[in-house]
Amino acid sequence: MGYYSTLTRCDGVKTPQMTGSCWTCGRVFTFNPVKVPSVRDGNGVRQPICSNCMRLANKMRTDKSMVLFPIPDDAYEACDEMKLG
Ligand SMILES: [Zn+2]
Repeated sequence: MGYYSTLTRCDGVKTPQMTGSCWTCGRVFTFNPVKVPSVRDGNGVRQPICSNCMRLANKMRTDKSMVLFPIPDDAYEACDEMKLG
């Protein structure tokens, strides 16, 4: 799934993060291994999905009036531009 690292959040708290490739687009990104949206591959291994792909998936589901996939606030970097903005 990727490798562990430690991220220092904006409030100074160090939190374990994982870095890996998005199963859909291949982009390398950092995520919370507990909260990140994921799918199981052919071997039953959890594979993370990046925020871009989740937003795209939810946009398609919005267009089809389908229930959106939940994306936890802290699934990705602890302080990303969405929260700062
Ligand atoms: Zn992706």
